[in-house]
Amino acid sequence: MKIAVASGKGGTGKTTISTMLAYAADNSQYIDCDAEEPNGHIFLKPEIEKVIPFTLPVPEINTDICTFCEKCSNACVYKALVIVPQIKKVMFFDELCHSCGTCSYVCPVENALVEVDKEIGKIRIGKANHIAFVEGLLNIKEASATQLIVNLKNYVDNTKTVILDSPPGTSCTVVATLEDSDFVVLVTEPTPFGLSDLKLAVELVRNMNIPFGIVVNKHDDNVDLIEQYAKKENIEILYRLPFSEEFAKNYSKGILPFEEYKNDFKNILKTIEDRI
Ligand code: SF4
Ligand code: SF4
Repeated sequence: MKIAVASGKGGTGKTTISTMLAYAADNSQYIDCDAEEPNGHIFLKPEIEKVIPFTLPVPEINTDICTFCEKCSNACVYKALVIVPQIKKVMFFDELCHSCGTCSYVCPVENALVEVDKEIGKIRIGKANHIAFVEGLLNIKEASATQLIVNLKNYVDNTKTVILDSPPGTSCTVVATLEDSDFVVLVTEPTPFGLSDLKLAVELVRNMNIPFGIVVNKHDDNVDLIEQYAKKENIEILYRLPFSEEFAKNYSKGILPFEEYKNDFKNILKTIEDRI
């Protein structure tokens, strides 16, 4: 069973819910797909056994044999390559390159343009007690984590309960994480901002046609914003994690009450299993 945990915005408690679900399952794998800012490791404290560099192919031009015909730069829809024939200059903006390979395909001169590997991030693999741990980490200044996330999902172990901790928002990195999931848990908080971003996330999972439910973090009995919305939209609220000052203090120290909430989160997993 593959469960993606997502939220319309950052800071709603997505990693809290993801790690607590992974802890509650008997045989689980936690995959941190929030590659720009992975923080599940802070709470799970895994022992890292392997670090695998993640590379993508980018063009390298040999100006000794390049004819400066501009075929490559004209073919690059991302404007990552600029050729200036008048002064025989090649400019490559690697942060714009999507490693699509078009430039090397169209180049008519053998070996004038070759593809070389560029490291854009790392995949860290390890163990946190009974939880198999996988994390994607994008290098600083790299623009897009999508391909790293797609690669991360090759490490999914289908014999386990897999928890995919998604990046926040509704961009293509989130779509890459949610794709092929059996269920999506949308984490939100009972504030107007929380509700507004939840609506965007609901629209996304509905478009992707994946069953989903809501977990309300920092639940406050006096606020029924999310309750009203969920009722109107006929969306199941799987769990309400109450607001607690002690919880927040421990969270800021990298501590989550895994054992205390284990049964509650086992029940969430059971509900999800029933819904799939
Ligand atoms: S297509 Fe090849 S030969 Fe033409 S400018 Fe680009 S690298 Fe040079
Ligand atoms: S690999 Fe694609 S995106 Fe990158 S420079 Fe070549 S054509 Fe442009």
